[in-house]
Amino acid sequence: QYSSGVRKVTLIPGHGIGPEITVAVQKIFEAAKVPIAWDEVDVTAVRGPDGKFGIPQKAIDSVNANKIGLKGPLMTPVGKGYRSLNLALRKEFDLYANVRPCKSLEGIKTLYDNVDVVTIRENTEGEYSGIEHEIVDGVVQSIKLITEEASKRVAEFAFQFAKDNNRKKVTAVHKANIMRMSDGLFLRCCREMATKYSEIKFEERYLDTVCLNMVQDPSKFDVLVMPNLYGDIMSDMCSGLVGGLGLTPSGNIGKNGALFESVHGTAPTIAGKDLANPTALLLSAVMMLRYMKLNEHADKVQNACFNVLREGKVLTGDLGGKSKCSEYTQEIIKNLK
Ligand code: NAD
Repeated sequence: QYSSGVRKVTLIPGHGIGPEITVAVQKIFEAAKVPIAWDEVDVTAVRGPDGKFGIPQKAIDSVNANKIGLKGPLMTPVGKGYRSLNLALRKEFDLYANVRPCKSLEGIKTLYDNVDVVTIRENTEGEYSGIEHEIVDGVVQSIKLITEEASKRVAEFAFQFAKDNNRKKVTAVHKANIMRMSDGLFLRCCREMATKYSEIKFEERYLDTVCLNMVQDPSKFDVLVMPNLYGDIMSDMCSGLVGGLGLTPSGNIGKNGALFESVHGTAPTIAGKDLANPTALLLSAVMMLRYMKLNEHADKVQNACFNVLREGKVLTGDLGGKSKCSEYTQEIIKNLK
């Protein structure tokens, strides 16, 4: 690491609009004098000795060494022999908790202006374990795998996150009334963890009820923790409540490191045209700074971004504006104080 306190961070620009929005973040961070050095790597799939496509070793080594990374969207080629690189990264680094803060932004008109929820999704097992087989012709089985170990660690992460971020309540989202054993185990782990964090309120709610209540009155919720599939859907729903995927940041937290990423895809139709909105990646990078305890720098960048959105004069097309990605970036730089 650097002697001056500069920390190295792995940077995966990704595909499509990835490189453009990555440059935007790099420019803003440079102007804000954020003390990090980027270690840029390419994760385009390479064919390994076994003939299967996977992440290049150089990228794996970089994340292992730096333990922290920022990632743009990745294209998953459709066809045989390719696995999702996102999934491969999650598995490789055991990124067990996916965190998505969804907070209403001033200047972005949505149904509600008081949304402030954080979804925490178990990221390694459950319905996405990838264990599927055909029993007989016309009958397939897919296994939802829930373990005590993975449930406990994500529950612990949720309560600790709530404590560290002055949050008041954790809601466990489940269907243990139907999936008695699997969701039952997940829920039991959450209940047990709740007893260790008596200062945080704990409640358990059925997934369907949470969906209903979330769209009726999102202020009822604070931090939510749930198994993989429920979290996948619920986190997108919450993004929709605050203005869509172009604005929502996320973090994938593991035992030995963390990878922060925008939740949107590669937006191929606008790629290379300087039209993309870099906000989601920028706010993911801000989340990363907080994870690194660089809170002053995080506040500085976040305030500048929020100012530009609030003013509403320089916005990208997805937010109804006419500005280019590079113009929006310059406007944020102008607002850095
Ligand atoms: P997408 O998120 O790329 O695009 C959906 C819509 O949102 C498009 O209209 C797009 O133009 C717009 N959009 C997305 N991000 C934007 C931004 N930052 N600024 C302005 N507009 C934005 O989803 P898709 O079209 O379903 O997927 C395209 C590709 O991305 C696929 O190859 C998919 O596998 C991949 N993908 C990757 C990730 C990831 O790496 N995390 C996530 C989702 C999709």
